[in-house]
Amino acid sequence: MKEKPIAFINNKHAHDIIDSDVEEVFSTISKTEKEAFLALWEGSRSLQTKRLRIYRSNCFKWDNDNGKGFGACISLQLSRLNHSCLPNAAWRQEHNYFRVFALRPISKGEEITVCYNQDFFWMIAVQRKALQDHIYKFSCDCKACDTNTEFSRASDKRRTRIGLLHFRLQGLMVPSFCLPPPGSSNTSASMPLGGSVAAHPGGLLERWSDSAVQVQCQLAELLQAEGLLGVAVAGHYDGAANALCEQLPMYVKSRQPIPMIKFENILKWKRQALAMRRTYMMKEEYQPYEDDLAIFQSFCTSLLRGTMSAQVSDK
Ligand SMILES: [Zn+2]
Repeated sequence: MKEKPIAFINNKHAHDIIDSDVEEVFSTISKTEKEAFLALWEGSRSLQTKRLRIYRSNCFKWDNDNGKGFGACISLQLSRLNHSCLPNAAWRQEHNYFRVFALRPISKGEEITVCYNQDFFWMIAVQRKALQDHIYKFSCDCKACDTNTEFSRASDKRRTRIGLLHFRLQGLMVPSFCLPPPGSSNTSASMPLGGSVAAHPGGLLERWSDSAVQVQCQLAELLQAEGLLGVAVAGHYDGAANALCEQLPMYVKSRQPIPMIKFENILKWKRQALAMRRTYMMKEEYQPYEDDLAIFQSFCTSLLRGTMSAQVSDK
């Protein structure tokens, strides 16, 4: 599904949008668009006007094509898709439109769902419920939100770990709103929303360090195990592979042999990232990653041949 958004508010994040911004763009859209806009879900934010509540509940981040600016826009059909914490689809911006793509095969008659908030990736069921009640005013009935099931308990553990690793990678502590509330099995827990994000005492992980490689790889595996497929999984596998690539010159510089496992892991993770990209990208978009993998593969092959011929000549 492809859709051109309407009603752009430039250089503002959703939470910065005020009544006058919405009134200004509202006057620029057609009568039919106005009707469709007013029929959208308004959530339960304590904001003064219905139009502002609708805008804040439904707007999407928009990057200007030149990458120099951003904004918040309305995409009427995309806004109609319901949320799931285990979505079977996602969206992304391609030039001047949004494209909705499947993350896994969707059966005939199965509802197409997307995840409304990436923070849900590292929130346990009770925290997501608090946010959904407080801000979005809906309740999710996905498998991960069906508390007291084996899957949901495993999901909570994975998401808590995803949160720890996600923020560790950025040199941050897990923000208070993402921490499991004390006695997190208590489903009536009310939690504070928002809050500050403190720096991790260990600081930012060096991008190429073994710790960063491990964190990236674990994040990709955990997200995949949770069923949160797509861009983040591909990005973390690539992150792990690229971090290992950055280690290679250090071996060359110190005249140490590069452990073969490093090459094997780079290839493995690049392949996994590519496999994921093939599910949500068009051929022309994932082609550069395919080419990059082919180049690296031939580099490894020639290196391996070099090592073997060196071993033969040693004998
Ligand atoms: Zn859910």
